[in-house]
Amino acid sequence: MVRVRKTVKCKIIKPTELKLKHLNKENNNLQELLQLEKFGLGSLPIYNSLKKKIYSANIQQALRFYKKIKPNKEYPISFRKDLLEIRKTDNKLSKYWVKIPTKQRAGGLKLAIKSQPFLFEDYEICESKLFRKKNNWFLNLTVQKEVELNNTYDSILGLDLGQKYMGVSVMQPSALMTPKFYGKEVRGIRRKYDYIRKQLGEKKLLKEIKRFGQKEQRKVTDCLHNISNRIIEFAQTNNSVIVLGNLKGIRSSVKGRNFNKIVSNMPYLELTQMLEYKANWNGIRVIKLNERGTSHTCSKCGIEGSRPRQGVFNCSVCGLKDFNADINGAFNIGNKLSSGYILEDGATLTLPETDAI
Ligand SMILES: [Zn+2]
Repeated sequence: MVRVRKTVKCKIIKPTELKLKHLNKENNNLQELLQLEKFGLGSLPIYNSLKKKIYSANIQQALRFYKKIKPNKEYPISFRKDLLEIRKTDNKLSKYWVKIPTKQRAGGLKLAIKSQPFLFEDYEICESKLFRKKNNWFLNLTVQKEVELNNTYDSILGLDLGQKYMGVSVMQPSALMTPKFYGKEVRGIRRKYDYIRKQLGEKKLLKEIKRFGQKEQRKVTDCLHNISNRIIEFAQTNNSVIVLGNLKGIRSSVKGRNFNKIVSNMPYLELTQMLEYKANWNGIRVIKLNERGTSHTCSKCGIEGSRPRQGVFNCSVCGLKDFNADINGAFNIGNKLSSGYILEDGATLTLPETDAI
C-alpha cells in the first residue's frame, strides 16, 4: 500500500455578493492579523478584536504554517481537513461544492467549485488552501488515498530522460509500441524565455522578468502534464510497470560542469514526481534505477558500444548501427529490470521475459 496525494486547483465559481463579502472579510482580517504577528504586536487590543472576527482554526493553521511572515504578502487561508466538506450535487452552477469554515457564516460557507471530475468516493480530503488571484478565488484542494500497487505486469515501459527530448519511452516486449518521444517543446520554451529574460535584464525590468517567469512556468507545467498523461495512458493500456533512470544517472551521462545547467534547465524532477503520483494514483508502479552505463551499453547485446556523434549509437559486436542513442538508453533502462526484481517494500514483480529490440 502506498499513500498518494494530489492537489487539484479548483476555481470558485460565481460566488454571490454576500458570499464574496464573507470571503473577503475572513481573508482581510487574517492578513491583517498575520502582519501584526510579524511585528510582534500580538498584545495590542486590535489584535484581540481581529482574532474574534476570524475562525479560530484558520488562525491556528496560518500561524502553524507561516512562520516567517513577509510584509505586504497575502497568504492563503489554510483549512484543517476535518473542517472541509465536499459535496456532489445536481446543481446547475456546478456539480461540486465545498463548504469552508469562516467566522462570518455559522455552519460554513458553501461555494461552487470548478474541478476536473474525479472520483469523490475513495479518497480523503487533506488540508487545503484558499487564495485570491486578481479578482478570482481558488481552492488548492489536496486529496489522498491509499493505493494497492499492481504486482503483476504484462510489460515494461522504459523511459530515458534526455536533453533534446524530455523523455523517450520504449515498451518491452517491443512489439507493443514503437518508441515515443516527448517534450521537445520544453527545451524550446526554455530557450525562448531565456532570451526574453536576457533582454529584460538589460533594461532592468524586474517586474516583467517575474511575470514572464510565471508565464514560462505555466507553459512548462502544461507540457509536463501532457507528457505524464500520455505515458500513464500507455502504461495503463499495456499493463506496464514504468522504469526510469534517476537524476544521478543523468549526472553520469553528462560531463561535470554541464550537469547543473542541464538539470536546472530541464524540469526532470517535476516530471518524475508528476509521473510517480499519477502512476501510483492508478495503481501503477514507478521504479527508478541508476542509469549508470545505460547510455554506453548496447541494448541488444549488452557490450559497450560507441557514440560517434550526438544522438547516435553504434555497436561493433552485434552490428547495431546508427541507432538512436536515446532509444538505446530507454531499452537499457527497461533491460535493467529483470524478472524477479525485488522492490523496496518487499513485493516481487512478475514480469514477462523481455526481448531487447
Ligand atoms: Zn551490440
